[in-house]
Amino acid sequence: MIEGNAKCGNLDAARQLFDKMPEKNVVSWTAIMAGYAQLGYGEEALVLFYQMKQLGVEPDQLTFANVLQACACSALLSEGKQVHVHVIRSGFEWHFVLATALVDMYAKCGRIEDSHRIFDSMSARDVVAWNAMIAGYGKHGYARKALQLFEQMRQSGIRPTRISFTNVLSACSHAGLVDEGCYYFNSMTQDYNIIAESEQYACMVDLLGRAGRLDEALAFIQKMSIEPTADVWGALLASCRIHGNMWLGKLAAERLFKLRPDRAGTYVALSNIYSAAGRWDEAAKLRRLMNDRGVKKEPGYSWVQVKNRVHTFSVGDTAHPQIEHIYAMLDKLAGQMKTAGHVPNTNFALHDVDDEQKEHMLYHHSEKLAIAFALISTPPGTSIQIVKNLRICVDCHTAAKFISKIVGREIVIRDANRFHHFKDGLCSCGDYW
Ligand code: ZN
Ligand code: ZN
Repeated sequence: MIEGNAKCGNLDAARQLFDKMPEKNVVSWTAIMAGYAQLGYGEEALVLFYQMKQLGVEPDQLTFANVLQACACSALLSEGKQVHVHVIRSGFEWHFVLATALVDMYAKCGRIEDSHRIFDSMSARDVVAWNAMIAGYGKHGYARKALQLFEQMRQSGIRPTRISFTNVLSACSHAGLVDEGCYYFNSMTQDYNIIAESEQYACMVDLLGRAGRLDEALAFIQKMSIEPTADVWGALLASCRIHGNMWLGKLAAERLFKLRPDRAGTYVALSNIYSAAGRWDEAAKLRRLMNDRGVKKEPGYSWVQVKNRVHTFSVGDTAHPQIEHIYAMLDKLAGQMKTAGHVPNTNFALHDVDDEQKEHMLYHHSEKLAIAFALISTPPGTSIQIVKNLRICVDCHTAAKFISKIVGREIVIRDANRFHHFKDGLCSCGDYW
């Protein structure tokens, strides 16, 4: 019942059941932890893990797999490392599922080398392990490496699954490898008889659209063998926003309003397209519509782990105990960035306030607060690791590049789509994201 409730997204009910159980064994503990981990509440899952250990209940392989997933989803690297130690102590290190969970955890926590080291050390690998490694390289922007691994997997006689192709296509998309992506999309059906579903179609639209081939993306959608889904139109809309195509953006948004009227991202993306084109009236109309329909924008937040504690920030945050120092640091950085030639990009902010105020708001985006906090609370020279629940905005991306150079530190940001490694004024994504 705990598992069932959690899988339906009803965590409160699951937790009540769990709390009421007079006797809990490893199965019940694992069920509730899995519930938290799968819904993205990594920290809560970890708290339960340590409670369970304190009570003397020994974790099994499934427990570890779920706890590692919890660390992965919330990018809790130091906890992930601790759990890794527990795994080794328990003698489960070579277990198939756990090694794969470790590969996934290290990749999602920004440590692709550690991830690969574990992958290399596995004596046997199933398709799930290969998929985890390929996805890791894709998210970090190493598309060539992802493709190379995919070929190695094929050569070793392992049959790729639909997920393998999704990973390969999204890797191509993050690196702008359009020809390669098209090749693998065709190969999926021709060589493996896997029929494309919404996800793979969306990847292809993303691949073409991101590369600026918007007409081809539209033609591709019109030729799809299934009815285009919200994901597919969403990919087109996102590309229209990057490339400032209002006409096609409107078309995609209209389809999305019909399919998923509650999807806040549609309103935000279209409104941003209008704002970028200076059409404030239409942008404002759209926001009113969003309000009238009661659609809520998903709040953006970023978090950073310092000395085993997770610090979470939202835009314009004032709650953090060190907030004054954080804003002082941001002011200092803003000055240094201006001297270095940074002009704030206000196009992508969903506000029609005047420029000065807009600039002010941009400086207080959650990822900037997290960066500033990390800078004042960690030793000079150490790398900084930040996670954001949404996509990073253009201005924060540019600012992170500048800051990495000014302070001489590597800044790694995991956003909703991928990893960005900022170093010496450049980002590993090559500004293609
Ligand atoms: Zn931002
Ligand atoms: Zn980047």
